[in-house]
Amino acid sequence: MIAGINPDRLAAFTLRETRRYLASRPNTQAALQAGGGAYLAGVPMHWMRDWPMPFPLLVESAKGARIIDIDGYGLDDFCLGDTGSLFGHSPGPVAKAVARQAKRGLTYMLPSGDALEAGRLLTKRFGDFRWQIATTASDANRCAIRVARGVTGRPRILVFNGCYHGTVDDVMVMLDAGQTVTRPGMVGQVADPAQHGVVVEFNDLAGLQAALAVGDVAMVLAEPVMTNCAMVLPDPGFWAGVRAACDVTGTLLGVDETHTVSSGLGGWARGHGLRSDIFVIGKAVAGGIACAAWGLAPELAERFAAYDAARAGGHSGMGTTLSGNPLQFAALRANLDKVMTPFNYALMEARAVRLQAGLAAAITGAGAPWHVVRVGARVEFICAPGPLRNGAEAMAAHMPRVERAVHLGLVNRGCLIAPFHNMMLVCPATKKRQVDGLIDAFVEVLAELFD
Ligand code: PMP
Repeated sequence: MIAGINPDRLAAFTLRETRRYLASRPNTQAALQAGGGAYLAGVPMHWMRDWPMPFPLLVESAKGARIIDIDGYGLDDFCLGDTGSLFGHSPGPVAKAVARQAKRGLTYMLPSGDALEAGRLLTKRFGDFRWQIATTASDANRCAIRVARGVTGRPRILVFNGCYHGTVDDVMVMLDAGQTVTRPGMVGQVADPAQHGVVVEFNDLAGLQAALAVGDVAMVLAEPVMTNCAMVLPDPGFWAGVRAACDVTGTLLGVDETHTVSSGLGGWARGHGLRSDIFVIGKAVAGGIACAAWGLAPELAERFAAYDAARAGGHSGMGTTLSGNPLQFAALRANLDKVMTPFNYALMEARAVRLQAGLAAAITGAGAPWHVVRVGARVEFICAPGPLRNGAEAMAAHMPRVERAVHLGLVNRGCLIAPFHNMMLVCPATKKRQVDGLIDAFVEVLAELFD
């Protein structure tokens, strides 16, 4: 049995659903055959091969929580660009601001009036930090790591087993039999990130305290809730313990809210009174325009200013040419001000609660040994009993064959969920009937897989 499912039944279902997809997408298939050859491996970004379908959808357009493909199918979108469109596709105020800015120049390497207002709004939404703008969360995390090492003079970065903070070499590390090792599979890797990384399990406060006690860790870099290997919630008191351990050992705490901004206004840490020294956010922060921000708490900003003034001249190793462009600021300002609002978060929360309850009932109804977790607008079904307590348990709960079959079954029933594990997002535009449609599709798929 795989995740409670007979493997023959799983294989038969996968075959049926694959054939159904192939038969339903003649235009897509023909277009990819004609035009995909220009791209390495047939797609413009290799992650687009990670979908469970035999070939990806070709998108005609997207608005709110709906995607239309070139074969004319409409799908209810619960992937939302893997969080990039957490607030819906082309939210009105963002689309308007982008269109307005498009006539006024797209990149200057100079700030604009919108930049100043966006800075004020970043502080209003996320707290008192001194901000810098990047273009991706990966870039923002790389900058955060440099600053932490520079200011503390310490080499190591501590992360949790199973984490993901972007294509950031320094934290491509994991635990293997209790040892920190470099993750396998990276293309062309020569440096060994395990030399300067330390990995402990999430929720293992004693392990973290012991690692920090050595005194060579510059920063703990973490998502407040682990969202990148299934979903793992913090134990009560875990974060208070981490904060205290950081304070005692002079270690910085960097909180990556790129995904957990789904939790509620201001992100998980702000909502739960967790103080961070470095704050990182990307993906959805500008409503879908490529943009990220990292911020230093005021005291750390002062330390960094002193470090920076004393630094030998030369390249800082941080920044990219198009970061902080006026299109980003127009979108960022509009999104922070008019889209990332308490009202919209309340809508998202209500829909996500409904989705969680419906999926949980479906799982119970099917007698599946699975469970559902939610962090605000982010819902995840996990093909194993729960709750999961750390990355090792989350990795063991990952059932790629089953998950791909379920995802494909959902696509054929008009619902798109993220290709990475089983993540579903709701945006302010997600309708109750779309949530109910996903629940119905999930019930149908489970009925095919379980007796
Ligand atoms: N931080 C977290 C928590 C993420 O989940 C991701 C991407 N999934 C990133 C950073 C990197 O984002 P990007 O790929 O946009 O650089």
